[in-house]
Amino acid sequence: MLLSRQHKKLSFQAVLLLGSLLFATGLHAEDKIPIVVTLPVLKDFTEQIGGSSVEVKSLITGMESEHTYTPKPSDLLAIKEAKLLVKIGLGLEIWVNALIKNADRPDLRIVTTSDGVGLIRDHAERPEREHLDKTIDPQHAFKEQHTMGNPHIWLDPENVKIMIRHITDELIRFDPARRGEYLKNQSRYILELESLEAELKKKVNRLPNRNIVTHHPAWPYYARRFGFVIKGDILTQVGTEPSAKHLGELIKLMKREKVKVIVSEPQLNPKVPQILSEETGAGVVVLSPLPGALPGTESYVDLIRYNTETLIKALGGS
Ligand SMILES: [Zn+2]
Repeated sequence: MLLSRQHKKLSFQAVLLLGSLLFATGLHAEDKIPIVVTLPVLKDFTEQIGGSSVEVKSLITGMESEHTYTPKPSDLLAIKEAKLLVKIGLGLEIWVNALIKNADRPDLRIVTTSDGVGLIRDHAERPEREHLDKTIDPQHAFKEQHTMGNPHIWLDPENVKIMIRHITDELIRFDPARRGEYLKNQSRYILELESLEAELKKKVNRLPNRNIVTHHPAWPYYARRFGFVIKGDILTQVGTEPSAKHLGELIKLMKREKVKVIVSEPQLNPKVPQILSEETGAGVVVLSPLPGALPGTESYVDLIRYNTETLIKALGGS
C-alpha cells in the first residue's frame, strides 16, 4: 500500500519533470526565428546578424549551381514552417517562386536583399540569358532580364553592406526586443568586411597582369571591387555548351589580351576550361561563387579570402 502510494507520487513527479522539460524545449525552439534562405551565402549573412536568435536553413547547399537548382520536397516543408524567406531577387532564384506559391503562406515575409544595390548590366551583345524561365514568353523574359542586371551582387563586400541592412531591418521588425543586439552584430560584421576588403585590395594592387576569363558571368561585381579585369566568359547561359565559334573567338582574345588565367567553378563542368587551357597555355583556377563548395570556404569572409588569394597566386602574385 505504502509502496504503491510512493510509486504514484514518484510517477507524478516524473510527469511534472517531463512536462517542464518539454515546456522548456518548446519555448527554446520557439525562441529561435525559423528562416529559409535560397543560397548558403545568405545563411551566413542572416546568422551573422541574428546570432543565436535565428534558425536558418539554406535551400541550396553550395554544390549546386544557383541557376539550375531543382527543389526537394523538404524545401517546401521548410518554407511552410518559416517566418522569413531571404533571397537575392533580380530573377536569380526562379526555382523558388513555385515553392513559395505551393507553400501557401500569405503571412510569409520575403526579404529581397538586392533592393537598392547598384547593378551591373550584362553586355548588350552577350545578354545573360541563363536566368530566363523557359515557360515565360521569351521576348518578355529577355526584356525583363536585360533591365534587371547581373544578380551575383554578393561577391562585392560593399554590396553585402546593403544586403545585410535588409536582413537587420526585417529581424528588428520581427523581433524588436533584440534590436540592440542585431544592430551591434551588423556594425561588427561591416567592420570585418571592411578590413577584409582593404587587406585583399592591397595584395591585388601589386599584380602587374590582372586579366582573366571566367566560366560564367558570376564575377563582374567582384572583379570591379578588387581590380581584376574580365576579358570574356565561357558561358553566357548555365546548362548549355558554348559554340565552337564563341570558343574560337575566346582563344584569339585570350592570346591578344595576354590572359593567363581561366576561372572555373566547382558547380560547373570543368571540360571546356581545360580545352581552353590546352589551346592557350593559360592556367585554370577553381573559385566558387558560393560558400561551402571548396574546403576552407564555409563562411563568406573565408570564401572571399580563398578566392582572392588563389587568384592572386595564379596570376603570379603572393
Ligand atoms: Zn551564377
